[in-house]
Amino acid sequence: MGQPRAVGSADGPPTRLPLVLTALWATAVGLELAYVLVLGPGPPPLGPLARAFQLALAAFQLLNLLGNVGLFLCSDPSIRGVMLAGHGLGQGWAYCYQCQSQVPPRSGHCSACRVCILRRDHHCRLLGRCVGFHNYRPFLCLLLHGAGILLHVSVLLGPALAALLQAHTPLHTAALLLLPWLMLLTGRVSLAQFALAFVTDTCVAGALFCGAGLLFHGMLLLRGQTTWEWARGQHSYDLGPCHNLQAALGPRWILVWLWPFLASPLPGDGITFQTTADVGLVAS
Ligand SMILES: [Zn+2]
Ligand SMILES: [Zn+2]
Repeated sequence: MGQPRAVGSADGPPTRLPLVLTALWATAVGLELAYVLVLGPGPPPLGPLARAFQLALAAFQLLNLLGNVGLFLCSDPSIRGVMLAGHGLGQGWAYCYQCQSQVPPRSGHCSACRVCILRRDHHCRLLGRCVGFHNYRPFLCLLLHGAGILLHVSVLLGPALAALLQAHTPLHTAALLLLPWLMLLTGRVSLAQFALAFVTDTCVAGALFCGAGLLFHGMLLLRGQTTWEWARGQHSYDLGPCHNLQAALGPRWILVWLWPFLASPLPGDGITFQTTADVGLVAS
């Protein structure tokens, strides 16, 4: 069995292709949204105060979204460079043959990232990186602000969708929203109508996806579980909702959702974890 050690980056970082594809997709949606808003009926009519509030909300959402994307990508959740020596190899430690190292409890090897991840949750295919101990907070905030910004864009598209409904039959509109590519390729709709349907579909599907992810991970957050532990019915690290929130988001867990750069240092190191048995919460 090998000794615990700091794992280097000999395998190199994972491919950036998923991130590039996601960025291209987000750019396409942004450009088509601008196209719809500039050439179409525009955003909903609002008074100056409501318009200022809407612009402030959009800026807040966008800054949070971009800030959390940056933090998520800059935080390395892996064991690369982490000095594991000096930690007692107690219960839960295992040997990873790919990393050739002892790895701590709750960590797991990711074949896409080609390294073990501390408190591994899952591999995010959209951003091409694992979600683990050091980037769980920006991941959760991304889900929240992603859902928020997509709902906001859906509201902005309201007048354009209303105009589309007035100009065509409900059947035509439904076909456009359900099969926009087919309607475009068969020449039944204009490019502007296709762009509107594409952006609407993306926003609705994206908001549902982010909302469902937020609900699921909110449940895991309160129960102190990773996705892997949830799938296997393990509750060894459930210290109660308040402690679980602090363990994942730091002491200022109520405020971290408002600003990505708000300091809220995590109490643990991602290597050792308190268990329900340690704090006497285990059911007898
Ligand atoms: Zn490994
Ligand atoms: Zn991964």
